[in-house]
Amino acid sequence: MTNSTFQIRQLGDPILRKMAEAVMDITDNHTQSFLDDLLQFVLDKKGMGIAAPQVGISQRLFIMSSRPNSRYPSAPEMEPTFVINPEIVWSSSEIEKDWEGCLSIPGIRALVPRHTAIKVEYTSRTGESIQTEFFGFLARVFQHELDHLNGKVFLDRVENSLDIMMEQEWLKLISDNH
Ligand SMILES: [Zn+2]
Repeated sequence: MTNSTFQIRQLGDPILRKMAEAVMDITDNHTQSFLDDLLQFVLDKKGMGIAAPQVGISQRLFIMSSRPNSRYPSAPEMEPTFVINPEIVWSSSEIEKDWEGCLSIPGIRALVPRHTAIKVEYTSRTGESIQTEFFGFLARVFQHELDHLNGKVFLDRVENSLDIMMEQEWLKLISDNH
């Protein structure tokens, strides 16, 4: 499969509302080449992350690919991370609202409340069991992507429709703030 065969699923597509299935054979060739293609795809799209259901694969895996760009100048630079069969095992009581967007909901931004710190477990692409913590922006990305595996999107968590903006207006707002 080459990444040109991926088509991003947009809000309304039922696959975005399904509970994704656990990944069984992480190291098999098919899964590994899917992971390579998905990585290339999210880098091309300059996404901070992407979950498999967003390209029509209802499996419990996502990529975190945070790096600074014009929309998120303060995004932490991280090696793209493959997160398979993730769980949040602890989350902070502290919650913070910040802006999110989604490749599956183009043109819209919203303020979304998320836990500021989480402890997580997942399997790496080599099949290793990982336990780690994320804070702030990366905790946000993890929670956003995990939601995709559970049939949720960021708009479901928005508390007030006044917290939703069109991207063009949001871009004006963030450029005023810099
Ligand atoms: Zn998303």
